Amino acid sequence: MGDYEPDVADLPTAQITEAKGALNGVSNSESGVLYRQIRQTPLNIVSGRGSYLITDTGLEILDATCGAAVSCLGHNDKRVHEAIQEQLQKVSYCYSVFFTNSAMERLSKFLVDSTGGKMSRAFITASGTEAVEASLKMAVQYFMELPTPQPQRVNFIARKQSYHGNTLGSLSVGHHVGRRALFEKVLAKNVSHVSQCYPYRDMKPDETVECYVGRLAQELEDEFQRLGPDTVCAFVAETMAGATLGCMPPLPGYLKAMKEVCQRHGALLILDEVMSGMGRTGTLHAWEQEDVVPDLQTIAKGLGGGYAPIAGLLINQHVVDTLTKGTGAFAHSLTYQGHPVSCAAAYRVQKIIQEDNLLPNVLEMGAYLSQLLHEKLDDHPHVGDIRGRGLFWAIEFVKDKQTKEPYPPSQGVAWAVHASGLKPEHAISFIPGNGGIDGINGDHVCLAPAYNTTRAEIELIVDRVTRVIQDVLGQ
Ligand SMILES: *Cc1c(COP(=O)(O)O)cnc(C)c1O
Repeated sequence: MGDYEPDVADLPTAQITEAKGALNGVSNSESGVLYRQIRQTPLNIVSGRGSYLITDTGLEILDATCGAAVSCLGHNDKRVHEAIQEQLQKVSYCYSVFFTNSAMERLSKFLVDSTGGKMSRAFITASGTEAVEASLKMAVQYFMELPTPQPQRVNFIARKQSYHGNTLGSLSVGHHVGRRALFEKVLAKNVSHVSQCYPYRDMKPDETVECYVGRLAQELEDEFQRLGPDTVCAFVAETMAGATLGCMPPLPGYLKAMKEVCQRHGALLILDEVMSGMGRTGTLHAWEQEDVVPDLQTIAKGLGGGYAPIAGLLINQHVVDTLTKGTGAFAHSLTYQGHPVSCAAAYRVQKIIQEDNLLPNVLEMGAYLSQLLHEKLDDHPHVGDIRGRGLFWAIEFVKDKQTKEPYPPSQGVAWAVHASGLKPEHAISFIPGNGGIDGINGDHVCLAPAYNTTRAEIELIVDRVTRVIQDVLGQ
């Protein structure tokens, strides 16, 4: 889950030792696993129950983030287990190049219907990264197969401080200076990046939302002009910025303004909802709150709730029509595409979200989470900004609240908060993020509780968050 990996290598020694201690840091040369931090052994999770993860030493960790905003129903829902069992007894795998299967059909129909028919087909993959890669290839193919092909459309525009996946193609579209650095020379050269919508730091004190949005749209327009407007294939953006920038919802009118720029020049709009979609923000699709419909949309994390690896690309009717009249085939396929067991699991997860009426709960508990975070932390001298939507919230830390000066990256503040949370006396898991300002500076943690979370659990989360922050950053 590379979008929030802390860079332990950058931390001063004392903090590394502390972080390692909190992570149970026994060096384990017997392990066959290449851990993310190769010299450390992370906590070993042996079971999960509701919003808790349980380690082999019996520590019950409050999973306040569903991992990477994945386990939206919490852990161990027997109804999903049954759906998986049932599918296993029918068929566990068939190759999508030759066959379809009922589980994939059912899930795809559900997904298409859930958009009110605005997206007309689904391409089911096994990971969010794969869905993003598929969206980029689909966009290129679309322009090749228009009645008058536009093969010159080879450029993508995306946003700074964004995350779109970790393979070379998706990493090229994403933007995080630190994460890209090692691979910069092998990343695609046909991608450029415009500013994020980040009012806390980038909106001027005397600027209205309208002016700020207009300025961002102008920046996109200028980038189209710089590249040559008819050379741009697509603009790629997370509907709501996720772990890299830290839960930044789009300002009113922002995505609409960006889409207008794309339409003016005939480019596609790709919305990456891998993290923010499938209910996380209170509507099944995050774009439903924005008065825009994307041409291509990626979904993943909450789709299968972690019960199986699954993701998807949703495709707008006009793109499907173009390919149908063109070659009649998407020039892309994957071995585990439309995997029946994953599809059965995801379909059941989605039905549970409906049956248990969880989207209203996301909105209600999200409002409660927001209220409590503001009550407890607004006055903290090192909490600069609290922002989010639905059950997806970030707390940005600053060294100086007045000037918004961030902590030096070498202090690894977000990572220290995360590590402290995992200590037995706190037992809560966050998603830490750094580099949100410019790829190097900036610290935040994200919260993303399960959709079926309760008022009591929200209170417990905010209690623990507050204590951890006081522990690490003072009162
Ligand atoms: C997590 C994420 C991805 C990558 O998904 P994987 O399943 O980790 O491959 C892509 N885009 C966004 C916005 C994400 O948050």
